[in-house]
Amino acid sequence: MESISVLDMFKIGVGPSSSHTLGPWKAALKFLDVIGERVNRVKRVEIQLYGSLAKTGIGHGTDIALILGLSGYDPVTFDVNRIDSTINRVKTGKQLNLAGKDLIAFDPKSQIHFLAGEMLPYHPNALRFVCELDDATLIKETYYSIGGGFVVQEGDDDRSETEDIPLPYPIESAADLSKLCRQSGLPISGIVLENEKEWRSEEETREAVLAIWKVMRNCIYRGCHAEGYLPGGLQVMRRASTLNRRLLGDKEYGSYEEWRKSIREGGSGFAYTLDWVSCFALAVNEENASFSRVVTAPTNGAAGVIPAVLQYLVTFKEDLSEDLVFTFLCTASEIGSIFKKRATISAAMGGCQAEIGVSSAMAAAGLTECLGGSVEQCLMAAEIAMEHHLGMTCDPIGGLVQVPCIERNTMGAIKAITASQLALHSDPEKAKVSLDAVVKTMWDTAQDMNTKYKETSDGGLAINIPISLSEC
Ligand code: SF4
Repeated sequence: MESISVLDMFKIGVGPSSSHTLGPWKAALKFLDVIGERVNRVKRVEIQLYGSLAKTGIGHGTDIALILGLSGYDPVTFDVNRIDSTINRVKTGKQLNLAGKDLIAFDPKSQIHFLAGEMLPYHPNALRFVCELDDATLIKETYYSIGGGFVVQEGDDDRSETEDIPLPYPIESAADLSKLCRQSGLPISGIVLENEKEWRSEEETREAVLAIWKVMRNCIYRGCHAEGYLPGGLQVMRRASTLNRRLLGDKEYGSYEEWRKSIREGGSGFAYTLDWVSCFALAVNEENASFSRVVTAPTNGAAGVIPAVLQYLVTFKEDLSEDLVFTFLCTASEIGSIFKKRATISAAMGGCQAEIGVSSAMAAAGLTECLGGSVEQCLMAAEIAMEHHLGMTCDPIGGLVQVPCIERNTMGAIKAITASQLALHSDPEKAKVSLDAVVKTMWDTAQDMNTKYKETSDGGLAINIPISLSEC
């Protein structure tokens, strides 16, 4: 049984896409590991991108991620303010500092191949590295970016990136989770914490989860104060900062905490609250579209839903506390891992239901536990949130993670809150649809969905809005 940690579900990285940016970046780092000591003998590197990576890779920054990965930079710590200058240096100089060690000739235009008409059988997000050494030996490796920043090498299965360690509470389905919670008397977050102890101490887990929240929180705050247009050529104007200004008027603040308190002082009117939830989600995904630092939750395209709902919780419902944040993220993570194990969190496999739908289900469960809901009500909230995302396609205009992606995060967040409220007012015993049934339905729908709606920009809004890739 696959063992997925909360730190696998929430990864600190760089936007705009977990499968098309973070995954290829990590694949490049894995390829550097394969090259190992032979790095100073490398003469040439070529990269072939297949399927969805080829079709939307430019808009999703796949080439940028590959250059940064081959340069040996870590997506968790690399200073995002240096992305433009680093990429420009490689593009104009046609040289790359392989693994940060040896300068080799590298022209991204001719050495990164976007093979839009070709697919590899295992997964639509495939990439192959070919490197030639000084004695003409070729090293070839193929990787698959399977969603949420998870990467597997050809020959391995989807579980290879997560450590297969035995957990005290092994969970494959919502039914398992419900049963183990009942037997142990623990809430979902309690089960997660006990399992996490197999990886590291409770203190280390708490520290790591709170560090994730800090990145989410900083991303919201930054996005609420950043102006201008998003990169990529679609001329999409940032809206979070305008909304933030409109809602706060002339209130003064100098930090995240003062800002949060200022928002609280504005009350809890319906439109005011709704506007803020949208503002939080817009802020994160505008930052994501700008190659900023974000948390994959469970993907980058859907990175705004969970932070927006958590920010809603600590602004409008409860006061901010480390315990509340920890509970929310642990519970959300367990729901996400059930979707990953039994369906998919990759839009190239399942459309946007696998990204925004899953993030909404995760947020709904996290919120419900934090608001005092029972285990069954948490599962019910997750089920409701996904049920109303079923069939949602992925059709990003110009291959950019901007339209419809950014607004879609506001919708995912609002649906999560509605799902949580519905579940809190319902008797789960009377529910007609279980979480496991909706996970299966999502997976069935994913398999039936036409490929043009799976992150290829071959259908939907991507072809009905008159903007071509070349203009972006
Ligand atoms: S449409 Fe949805 S799944 Fe597709 S890139 Fe945008 S957010 Fe991701």
